[in-house]
Amino acid sequence: MEQTMLAEQVLEWKGRRNAVILAHNYQEGRIQDVADFTGDSLKLAQFAVRTDAEVILFCGVHFMAETAAMLCPDRKVIVPDLAAGCSLADMIMPGQVRKWKQQHRDGVAVCYINTAAAVKAECDYCCTSANGEQVINAIPADKEILFVPDFYLGSYLKAKTGRNIELWKGYCPAHAVIDPAHIEKLQEQHPDAEFLMHPECGCLTKQMDLADKILSTDGMMKHVKESGSKRFIIATENGILYRMRKENPDKIFLPASEHATCSHMQQNTLEKVLRSLITLEYPVTVEPAIARRAILCIERMMEISQPKAEVVHGWLDPEPHPVRWGDPVLAAANDLS
Ligand code: SF4
Repeated sequence: MEQTMLAEQVLEWKGRRNAVILAHNYQEGRIQDVADFTGDSLKLAQFAVRTDAEVILFCGVHFMAETAAMLCPDRKVIVPDLAAGCSLADMIMPGQVRKWKQQHRDGVAVCYINTAAAVKAECDYCCTSANGEQVINAIPADKEILFVPDFYLGSYLKAKTGRNIELWKGYCPAHAVIDPAHIEKLQEQHPDAEFLMHPECGCLTKQMDLADKILSTDGMMKHVKESGSKRFIIATENGILYRMRKENPDKIFLPASEHATCSHMQQNTLEKVLRSLITLEYPVTVEPAIARRAILCIERMMEISQPKAEVVHGWLDPEPHPVRWGDPVLAAANDLS
């Protein structure tokens, strides 16, 4: 089908279904163009909570849709392709966190948002690359911390906060291919370019000094817009270059690696988006027993990372009940394991 016609059909079905389309920054340009909102994991979750649409078509990967399904239990959350998972999220299992907590009774488990709901259910806090530092700093200083699953983001947070953090050795294959030697070459060729790096990058531990800024994907979007620089080297999944170029047509964006593409994110296509809207497939749900526990660590993150008025309430209690450190609700939930 011709591309414009395809996009028009998507918009028509979106209206018929009273749906919103949320797209992660790494999604292909055609999907970003029909999306109601494009952003990073945190911003997408925040948008999902605010929308009153009946259907949320989530174009990203599975754990992101799970998060939306947990935060919006009264909406139908669907994804274009169930095969769009996350290699990094698959590197940690719920039982592994449970075992660490049994061995560290007073320890605090923090998970990157790139985890399955069942893993979040075992953790105390969740975080994104945008708010990881804030989350770690909100934990009492005497606590031993486990950070899962991304070793590189964890290393970055450990260096930034100086905290006692045990690091899980997971990694994202799309970020791991980014090679410091190639970046150095690009910097030599383009001495005027600013170099922006995502904290999931494998070269981060060795080459932190190389980066002008270490930022989440939304942090990068904001920075390139506000910066006076005209040229940037971008070290993250290359899908973000589409949005950068579209929103900043007068600036030049160079990928730190041509190979930094996520095979999971690429599973979603505009053709599948249309099929999803027509068939309302594939729904994503989370077992209530798991969701009740997972939502606590997400709520805690959201309370730390946004103004109070926007905190997500009401999953467990009819009365608004922001969850805080030492909260008996959280303690009770963790005892369920
Ligand atoms: S880019 Fe990496 S962390 Fe992000 S969804 Fe793909 S595999 Fe997971």
